[in-house]
Amino acid sequence: MQIIRSISHMQRLSDRLRQEGRRIAFVPTMGALHRGHLSLVELAGRHGDSVIMSIFVNPTQFGAGEDLSRYPRNFERDEKRAAEAGVEVLFYPEEESMYAPGHMTWVVNEGMTDILCGASRPGHFRGVTTVVMKLLHIVKAHVLVLGQKDAQQAAVLGRMLEDMNMETELLLGGIVREEDGLAMSSRNVYLDSASRSEALHLYQALNAAESLIRSGERRMDHILDTAKRVLLESGSITLDYLEFRTFPELRRPESLQGRILLAAAIFLADVRLIDNIIMELDPVQ
Ligand code: AMP
Repeated sequence: MQIIRSISHMQRLSDRLRQEGRRIAFVPTMGALHRGHLSLVELAGRHGDSVIMSIFVNPTQFGAGEDLSRYPRNFERDEKRAAEAGVEVLFYPEEESMYAPGHMTWVVNEGMTDILCGASRPGHFRGVTTVVMKLLHIVKAHVLVLGQKDAQQAAVLGRMLEDMNMETELLLGGIVREEDGLAMSSRNVYLDSASRSEALHLYQALNAAESLIRSGERRMDHILDTAKRVLLESGSITLDYLEFRTFPELRRPESLQGRILLAAAIFLADVRLIDNIIMELDPVQ
């Protein structure tokens, strides 16, 4: 596995890979790699000839008071995991080269970023769209591989690819979970053992909703109330949001049919966790 830190070096290597006719599949990450990230590498390997992963803790997607300074960083462990998973090139740029002094150009989605996570994290998606656009100009990917774990992020970036006439194809990997069902996340390391068991209510709430829907229930309020009750059985959880949306448009659905996202975010002490399910629903007869 090759590790590249320089932007221009990465661009020249991607040019060469493209000239050789190789299909570049790209997995952007912020490091602290877990099995969720590695499942995306595997997916990338099935859809491309060269898998490039980036590790960059993007400062512009963190708001004031968020966890930028304590975000887990362990490059040596990540390097080993990425190599074992089959990453061909690991792009690991320095913060100062990604955002040179005087950086003032942003990529902004104006329709889907003030809801769900965007409502409580103003500016977050501006940071995400901008850094991914920059990374795509550096890595020159044919395929961008993202996780459903960050469903709104995937929807916003899919929209960016379309709106900006980019030829990069988007691939979405499923959510990888711990054995008990908690969605894997780099932020799970912030949870102490009491919070770790409380966190499971998030998965259980989504499960309760899904079971109701699978058994034919279509009343959105009733399903949301049931799921909220499961969530709030834990006295330590504060709900940020629990909402149905169409996917990937992120509109409020009029009824539960078609591709439906049920997304949630909670706070457990000062740790913010997200999870979701996406269902393909036929109209009930
Ligand atoms: P992050 O390093 O958190 O920015 O995530 C990098 C990529 O990994 C994003 O596309 C995430 O959606 C994806 N990802 C994070 N957690 C998981 C998970 N548990 N399962 C699958 N993909 C994930």
